[in-house]
Amino acid sequence: MCLTCSCGQPNVDHGDTRNITFDRLAAAGQAGGVTIWEAANSLAHTVESVHRDPLEVFTESLNRPLVVCDIDGILAYFVQAACMAVNIAFGSDYTPDMWTTYRGPLTAEQHSWLGQQMKNPTFWATIAPDQEAAMMLRLLARDGYGLIIATDRPTEMRLATQRWLELWRIPYDGLLVGPGSKERLAREHGPDNPMILIDDNPAKCLTIPRPGVEVWTIRRPYTSGTQFNSWTELVKALRCFDVQTARV
Ligand SMILES: [Mg+2]
Repeated sequence: MCLTCSCGQPNVDHGDTRNITFDRLAAAGQAGGVTIWEAANSLAHTVESVHRDPLEVFTESLNRPLVVCDIDGILAYFVQAACMAVNIAFGSDYTPDMWTTYRGPLTAEQHSWLGQQMKNPTFWATIAPDQEAAMMLRLLARDGYGLIIATDRPTEMRLATQRWLELWRIPYDGLLVGPGSKERLAREHGPDNPMILIDDNPAKCLTIPRPGVEVWTIRRPYTSGTQFNSWTELVKALRCFDVQTARV
């Protein structure tokens, strides 16, 4: 500032280089490859952690659920990519708001064609990321949450998926690729080691939940179950969820 003395003049250093200005914070963010918002969040988080009791921080980490995050429809704009690909191939005019069921409005022929594209690494390499979602996962990783990325994409798409996650700097402790991988992981969790799956597939609300294991989602026209209107809302709820909650 001066960002630190509440003067309201973000780029005035008052003749003292110890004052942090808006431009300096933006440059620091650039140096670290993050946005100014992430740099500001990181600054606040680090200052807070420096002043906290390490034992308290450790105990808190034990009470956190494992966060398992789906990719398509959650971290990546799958519906938008599917609409664009099908429209180009078939001359159709689909828009994302027409995707009111999980399978979307496609004809059987279009659905089958799209299924073939999903076996091509190029399709997954070009799908756009939700930058807010990526930023929130970086925040959770910094907070010490265990993060697993899990997708029902074909297992052969593992490398393409890994490269995409690296390209968009999405952090994770483990990557599961292949149908059924989320269900297998959920069976290893319970009230003493809770897990929250963030997924847009309504079918997961039937196959995943068990004591200590929940499915949450970001609201879409086709989602069901525990829904949040934004990532900010979801992360706020996550920070209130702990092992004690899972045992109730
Ligand atoms: Mg999905």
